[in-house]
Amino acid sequence: MEGLHPRFPVEDIARSHNGQSYYQAAAVCRRGHIETRYLDPGRPYPADSKCPTCGALVLVACGSCGLRIRGDYFAPGVIGFDPSPRPSFCDGCGAAHPWATREERIYELENILDEEDMDEADRVFIHDRLRELREGEVLDEKRERQLWVQIRDRSGKFISSEPVKKIAETVVSAAIRNQLGI
Ligand SMILES: [Zn+2]
Ligand SMILES: [Zn+2]
Repeated sequence: MEGLHPRFPVEDIARSHNGQSYYQAAAVCRRGHIETRYLDPGRPYPADSKCPTCGALVLVACGSCGLRIRGDYFAPGVIGFDPSPRPSFCDGCGAAHPWATREERIYELENILDEEDMDEADRVFIHDRLRELREGEVLDEKRERQLWVQIRDRSGKFISSEPVKKIAETVVSAAIRNQLGI
């Protein structure tokens, strides 16, 4: 059948066949309007669908790795409303979905930073600067560049790790990234 077939995690395909719990897929427009959160493996979603609310293209998979966008948690025999919001990041590769806000992307950098094996003083230093970047509505470019340079100089391998690079590409301007060498 024609249509989009988002890629499910292999173990989730097996779980769905066995009637066990797993995450269904979601279809979400580029601006973040949810069309459905209840797609099963093997059920295609119409290609080139447009959002009835805003007209944007509807996506069913991560733009980076092709994994399905995580939808509702299906549990057999359980009827209940799952209030979890649409995911802002791919649960496979960590890339930001198009509707993730700048604030959410910087929060994600802070979450990754929390997991990083590094000197505590450096961690606090970088957290402070990320917070300023997150809260500063209109930072002038000079200050923004200064903050990223300080982050780079204290961050060790944090700044060059793959998930951080992917997010940085979407929150740091190309000009500043060139200057930073990231
Ligand atoms: Zn929309
Ligand atoms: Zn992905």
